[in-house]
Amino acid sequence: MAAAAAAKIVEVRETTRVERIGAHSHIRGLGLDESLEARHVSQGMVGQVAARRAVGIVLQMVRDGRIAGRAILLAGQPGTGKTALATALAAALGHDTPFTSMAGSEIYSLEMSKTEALTQAIRKSIGVRIKEESEIIEGEVVEVQIERPATGVGTKVGKLILKTTDMETVYDLGSKMIDSILKEKVQSGDVITIDKATGKITRLGRSFARARDYDATGQQTRFVQCPEGELQKRKEVVHTVTLHEIDVINSRTHGFLALFSEEGKAEIIPGVLFVDEVHMLDIECFSFLNRALENEMSPIVIMATNRGITKIRGTTYKSPHGIPLDLLDRTVIIPTQPYEEKELREILCIRCEEEDCQMTDNALTVLTRICKETSLRYGMQLIMTSSLIARKRKAHEVDVEDIKRAYQLFFDEGRSVQFLREYQQEFMF
Ligand code: ATP
Repeated sequence: MAAAAAAKIVEVRETTRVERIGAHSHIRGLGLDESLEARHVSQGMVGQVAARRAVGIVLQMVRDGRIAGRAILLAGQPGTGKTALATALAAALGHDTPFTSMAGSEIYSLEMSKTEALTQAIRKSIGVRIKEESEIIEGEVVEVQIERPATGVGTKVGKLILKTTDMETVYDLGSKMIDSILKEKVQSGDVITIDKATGKITRLGRSFARARDYDATGQQTRFVQCPEGELQKRKEVVHTVTLHEIDVINSRTHGFLALFSEEGKAEIIPGVLFVDEVHMLDIECFSFLNRALENEMSPIVIMATNRGITKIRGTTYKSPHGIPLDLLDRTVIIPTQPYEEKELREILCIRCEEEDCQMTDNALTVLTRICKETSLRYGMQLIMTSSLIARKRKAHEVDVEDIKRAYQLFFDEGRSVQFLREYQQEFMF
C-alpha cells in the first residue's frame, strides 16, 4: 500500500548556532500583577516601579484600542531604563500588536527623505487584522522529500505526496511548509492537516492503516482514523500584517482599499512607534509627527530622551527635552529615576545570569560600586570582559581581581575624558 512507501527525508546540515546577547535580552515583560502594580523584581525588570506602572496603563490603553493620537515621553537620566521600559512594553504587547522601534538619529542615515522614513515607521506601527477563510486538507502522508540544492546553500526544496480518500496529490513544498514538516517531524504513514492559506502543517498522529508503531522511547504512537469522506474543511484564519506590508503587496496586487470595502474582513489595529533619542529629530520631523498624530489610525508614539532644556534641532530655540512646545502639549511624560545601589546590584545579577557568568559576591559588590560611580551600561560591559579574563586563568567564577583588571583595561567615559585632557597635545587636531 502507498502509505508503506519508504519516507525519504534528506536532512539539512545544521549550522552552528551563534548566540548574541542584546542589551535588553533579559527583559521579558513589564513584571506587573493583575492590578497593574509593578512587582519589585519580575520578568527581568527591577525597581523603577512608578514608571513601570505608568507604562502598564499605556499597555492597557493599547489593548483597549484607546490610544490613537497620543504621545508619551519617557524622560530621565542615561541608563535609567527608558529603552528597557519600551522593550518590556513590546514584550507585553505580544506579536499581534505592531511595535516599531527607531532611534531619532536613524532618519539622517537612510537613503530617503526624513518624512518618508517617518511615514514608513508609522505605517509599520499600524496593524491590519485580516480575516479570511482557509481550506484545511487532511490526509495520510505517502512520501515526503526535502532536499537542499547541490551547492549546499540556498533554499530547501521538496515535495509531499498526500493521500486523501482514494486520491494521491503531490505538493511542491514552500519554505513555510518545509519548516512545518521539520518541526512536526512528519514522515510517511502520518496523518496530517495542511492549512492552504498559511502552509501550516499539523501532525495529528499515525494512520490506522499502518500496523502498530512504537517511537524511540518505546511508547506506542497515537493512531488516527484514516481520512474518509469529507476531506476538506473550512475555517476562518486571522492574519495580522502592518499597513506598510500591505502597501508593499499593494504595488503588486489589487490595493488595500479593496480589502476594507469587503465589510468586516479587515480591522485596523494601531500599534506602538518607539522613538529613542527623540531630541535628535529636527523641527520638520516634529511638525510631521504632530500632524501624523491627528490621524485616527495613528499609532501611539512613545519617545525617550535623556536631555533637559536644550535646542530644538533645526532652530535656535530652546525647549524642554528639545521637543517643540506644541508637541509637548499633547504628550504625557513618564519620568525615570536613578537607581539605588541595591537595584543596580539586582540588575547586574540578572545580567550575569543572562550572560552565563558566575560571579562571587565580593566581585558583584565591586561591580555595583563601579556602576554607581560610572554608569550602569559601563558596568554591564565589564560582566563579559571580566568573565573572559577569569576564563583565561581557568577560573569558573569572576572574582574581584578580574573586575579590577577589566576596569583597568577598558575606560568608562569619565576616565576617557580625563585621559584626553591630560594628553590633549598628543592627539591630532
Ligand atoms: P539612555 O538615556 O542612555 O538611552 P536608557 O534610560 O534608555 O539610557 P537603558 O538602555 O534602558 O537606559 O538601560 C541600560 C541597561 O540597563 C540596559 O541593558 C537595560 O536593559 C538595563 N536596565 C535598565 N533599567 C532596568 C530595569 N529597571 N530592570 C532591568 N534592567 C534594566
